Amino acid sequence: MTAEIIAVGSELLTPSRMDTNSLFLTLKLNELGIDVVRKTIIGDDRERLADEIRQARGSSPIVIMTGGIGPTMDDVSREAASDALGRELKYHPEITEAIAVRVSRLGLRKMAEINKRQAYVLEGAEVLPNANGTAPGQWFEDETGVLMLLPGPPREIEPLFEMQCLPRLRKREIPYQFYTVSLRVAGLPESELDERIAPIYTAESRVATTILASPGEIQIHMRAHAATTKQARAIAEALSRKVEDELGSNVFTHRDESLEAALMRHCLDRKLTLAVAESCTGGMIAQKITAVPGSSNFFRGGMVTYSNDAKSQWLGVSEATLERHGAVSKETAAEMAQGVRTRLDASLGVATTGLAGPGGGTSETPVGTVFIGVADEQSAEVKGMTVGGERDRVRLWATHRALDMVRRRVLSRQ
Ligand code: AMP
Ligand code: MG
Repeated sequence: MTAEIIAVGSELLTPSRMDTNSLFLTLKLNELGIDVVRKTIIGDDRERLADEIRQARGSSPIVIMTGGIGPTMDDVSREAASDALGRELKYHPEITEAIAVRVSRLGLRKMAEINKRQAYVLEGAEVLPNANGTAPGQWFEDETGVLMLLPGPPREIEPLFEMQCLPRLRKREIPYQFYTVSLRVAGLPESELDERIAPIYTAESRVATTILASPGEIQIHMRAHAATTKQARAIAEALSRKVEDELGSNVFTHRDESLEAALMRHCLDRKLTLAVAESCTGGMIAQKITAVPGSSNFFRGGMVTYSNDAKSQWLGVSEATLERHGAVSKETAAEMAQGVRTRLDASLGVATTGLAGPGGGTSETPVGTVFIGVADEQSAEVKGMTVGGERDRVRLWATHRALDMVRRRVLSRQ
């Protein structure tokens, strides 16, 4: 079963306001097995809205409008729905009375005359009481489908949708259900990942697979359709297992957890502790790790060692190394990782040193050069890379790569 969402409001077409209601609605609809196939944002324009309602009803049995049902003259969702359906708006005096009671309870002088606009209801529609605002919602249903008119403010639509609309939707027969499994991958380029798994996921037509790349991480979402949630889950999980078999330890989780949370889980399992020494990432690694609840159980601490002095005095990087190889080098990264590990008495140390730019690049060390070192009691390993893009991207990329390198090191330990 499909649904369309129409977010109404000229402010949503400006950079100052975002349509978040459709995200909430999509989450709730998906839980019922209802697919959102289209959402639109339309300004407060009666004609355009009426056109959109007609079109949406022509293609989906459920159409939800959010916003445009306030008291002010710019809100025209009711009128647009009336035009699109060819149904009159009927005045309901009991709604005006309810608004008047609400207004007096709030200690306001008196209900404004324009509030009466909110008492007009589509002929044949049910009124959906709004516990958190003056504009009631409306539920209209005919042989074409359902049209809902819902308030715009999130604190009004959310409880109203859960209390009034979900029970009504649950009564409808939903022909199929879906279930989504997500895998999260680090340390593999998108093209290589797709080359390896495309033959697997394209062979499973019951699953819609999407691949979402962001700096340092790729998510693979696999959404299966079936008659029941249980069947959909079995199909999605079977595909997910095949994909995971192919990608091996590149997959850092099949749960809803971040890379740093996965790293923490592995460290806790093995009773390992971690310390970080950061130059180009300036504390971003420590920030990510400490954002995970419970990280104090494995994270010993971190140092932001930006200058050469800090690197040698706090971490013990030798002056000869800094002089001979430079601060952005394999050798410095290795000594930083080993230095922070011993000084903070951790099982593992990780270090970053790089050139995030935009200035300072040379032909030997171009902007985007990053060295990441990981050390344990045995040895230190360093990876060098050149990251493309702006300063922030380089720093973020280095942060993810560092976390991933530690994760892999932890997994490879016996
Ligand atoms: P309205 O019911 O159109 O008068 O909207 C009232 C207020 O609700 C707006 O000023 C927005 O702040 C908020 N709002 C309206 N539509 C949305 C939406 N789709 N997502 C999030 N907030 C919204
Ligand atoms: Mg509005």
